[in-house]
Amino acid sequence: MKTCDFLVVGGGIAGASAAYELAAGGRVILLEREDRPGYHSSGRSAAQFIETYGNAGVRALTRASRPFYEAPPEGFAAQPLLSPRPVLFVAREDQRAALAEHVAEVKPQAAALEELAGPEAEALVPVLRPGYTAAAVLEPEASDIDVHTLHQGYLAAFRRRGGAVAVKAEVAGLALDKGTWRIEAGRETYQASVVVNAAGAWGDEVAALAGAAPVGLVAKRRTAVTFDPPAGVDPAPWPLVADVEEQFYFKPEAGRILASPADETPSPPCDAQPEELDVAIVMDRLEKATTLAPRRLAHRWAGLRSFVADKSLVIGMDDRVAGFFWLLGQGGYGFQTAPAAARAAAGLLLEGALPQDIAAEGVTAADLSPGRLRT
Ligand SMILES: Cc1cc2nc3c(=O)[nH]c(=O)nc-3n(C[C@H](O)[C@H](O)[C@H](O)COP(=O)(O)OP(=O)(O)OC[C@H]3O[C@@H](n4cnc5c(N)ncnc54)[C@H](O)[C@@H]3O)c2cc1C
Repeated sequence: MKTCDFLVVGGGIAGASAAYELAAGGRVILLEREDRPGYHSSGRSAAQFIETYGNAGVRALTRASRPFYEAPPEGFAAQPLLSPRPVLFVAREDQRAALAEHVAEVKPQAAALEELAGPEAEALVPVLRPGYTAAAVLEPEASDIDVHTLHQGYLAAFRRRGGAVAVKAEVAGLALDKGTWRIEAGRETYQASVVVNAAGAWGDEVAALAGAAPVGLVAKRRTAVTFDPPAGVDPAPWPLVADVEEQFYFKPEAGRILASPADETPSPPCDAQPEELDVAIVMDRLEKATTLAPRRLAHRWAGLRSFVADKSLVIGMDDRVAGFFWLLGQGGYGFQTAPAAARAAAGLLLEGALPQDIAAEGVTAADLSPGRLRT
């Protein structure tokens, strides 16, 4: 029987970052069902850090994550975790009101936003179809995230703190006996004071094993494709270009172009695969908005973005099942919020409160608690 203080279920970015932070204050074991951490959502993202993306709570956690991204602990990463990649939100004539609404919502915390006229946007991204963009907003402080280095950095630093990672270790049984969890996973049995549910799309299923009521997590499939740029076109200096109503986006990606129809199709938790229809939709939207017309795709994939009803993260102890802690609902923001979300989880579990810098961004434990989702 292997014993620890905190047993983390799920080796994606949420579980890896939380395991690292918790290992500063206790013995931690991380269990991952697949043969490697990062097989699911964390291996399928668009790797973007955008402080103006998501609701107010998500944006606050993203801001609180920036210091870690810009100055991770000594030895955490051999290269920078962020590299500049501004975001250009584009609007057609009929989307001007949506663009104005977006600016009004995010401007108070994003002073650097630049409002552009259509031709200025076209000058930045010459493949935008002439006349398509009526107005745009540039967020110059957004970045690409080196998601692999971040994820592996957390796992390596977790091990250096004495943490243990087991793969092919599907948690299949959770039983609470006199304040101690007994966890069945693979062929092993573990004991822990606290179980941290970082199982991504499977979060409500893991909760059911523990006898905890669901938080109403809905996994939504999102598709991405990559293709070569047209001959003679270098996409490297382009910003990420996003439709202001999130109907598509595209960005440079290692010499190619990555594009998504920004689909959000509800799905059961699974190994998500791209559907032909969604690939056709992104091609159609790209054709309308740009002069890009890829003849063949280099790659296509899909991943799950899991949300609760208010689209904020769920970080906190279950209100009814003692010792069962939630770290879920990362939606499309799991990387950009991970450093702060992990510190929030560790703060609540080790100190009984959110770290001060996160609270100073206006985040409260009640905003994050699973209890807020139960009426
Ligand atoms: C196309 C796409 C684009 C995205 N773009 C961005 C972006 O630009 N920026 C951003 O910040 N975010 C983005 N995201 C979202 C981000 O990828 C997710 O929010 C994040 O990866 C979620 O991490 P996670 O650890 O919660 O989930 P996952 O990575 O899915 O990890 C959960 C893990 O739990 C394991 N597990 C489940 N059940 C069990 C069990 N019973 N026992 C053991 N292990 C179990 C699973 O195998 C899985 O590995 C994007 C997502 C997609 C799909």
